[in-house]
Amino acid sequence: MAQAAKGKLNFRCPRCFMRDIDIDMFFDADKKEYYCLRCNFRGTEEEVEALNEQVKEKYGRLRERVTDFGADNRPPVFAPHRRGEQ
Ligand SMILES: [Zn+2]
Repeated sequence: MAQAAKGKLNFRCPRCFMRDIDIDMFFDADKKEYYCLRCNFRGTEEEVEALNEQVKEKYGRLRERVTDFGADNRPPVFAPHRRGEQ
């Protein structure tokens, strides 16, 4: 960590992003891992990508809207969101 540098890919920190903080990570070429200056998270490219997949779960239904909340333990019904509608 002598010289902070960006990696070949520009990753955002998954730990910070889970808290809605969007911050880029730096790359340690000696250890071949990415690290965050804000929260001390560090991990390999594979670990970062795996955590980013978990974060996607939070926004997985971003482009859908609930049309029926489902009474009596029925699952909710989703419909795709169209631009310009609520
Ligand atoms: Zn972080």
